[in-house]
Amino acid sequence: MQKTGNIQKMHATLEEGNAIYQLPIGNEMVAMNALVGQEISLIFNGTITCSNCGVITKKSYSQGYCYPCCRDLARCDLCIMKPETCHHHLGTCREPLWGLDNCFAPHIIYLANSSGIKVGITRKSNIPSRWIDQGAVQALPIFEVDTRLKSGQIEVALKAFVSDKTNWRKMLKNEVDEVNLVATKNQLLAKVTGLATELGAVALDNEAIKIHYPVVEYPSKVTSLNFDKMPEISGVLRGIKGQYLLLDTGVLNIRKFSSYNITLTY
Ligand SMILES: [Zn+2]
Repeated sequence: MQKTGNIQKMHATLEEGNAIYQLPIGNEMVAMNALVGQEISLIFNGTITCSNCGVITKKSYSQGYCYPCCRDLARCDLCIMKPETCHHHLGTCREPLWGLDNCFAPHIIYLANSSGIKVGITRKSNIPSRWIDQGAVQALPIFEVDTRLKSGQIEVALKAFVSDKTNWRKMLKNEVDEVNLVATKNQLLAKVTGLATELGAVALDNEAIKIHYPVVEYPSKVTSLNFDKMPEISGVLRGIKGQYLLLDTGVLNIRKFSSYNITLTY
């Protein structure tokens, strides 16, 4: 089979504890789990089409945009990476209406285990795909708040006690031990009680979830594949974790190449 089109980050869903991936390519979705164990090839055809305005851009900015869109879209602003710096209240949001829809919506502060325990935040509607995107093997929501800013404020307070980073090489090599997220959560709750009350955060009582990835063999050494340096990438797909295809020839971060025109053969 062969499919050609602009790719976007993989859609990830959780079914009975298993991560299920689909790759959007043009107007189609390719079920990727079924390709694990098979030889596949991905060829970059040389064009990158901005996923917002549709112009062809020489270089991809913010994972799939042209430079003007990257500069002007609120979703590409620094405050998306650092939600505690939300500046909507100052009237300087790049897209105030987009901000109202996306940042003034329920957000979750969570613990995840991708290469060790980390704290993170996401829109409630992005759960559980956010955890799969990060390659987390366990996850546990802690609080729900009503704005992105508040989630960032609580995250900043929790960062004093727990990392907010994933070591992606360890994540891809599956160098991760199972941890007791509930115990960590209980310790952390005590540290931020005052702030949580002040922000009206609701403590959540979910059970920790486990996520299994479609992987037959993890790499012992991580070599990054890059369409900008090597337009033809092929190999046996040994697995999928986070937004990465684990090929026997190296790992490919699909998200990084959003909006690239690709021919996938399998
Ligand atoms: Zn654009």
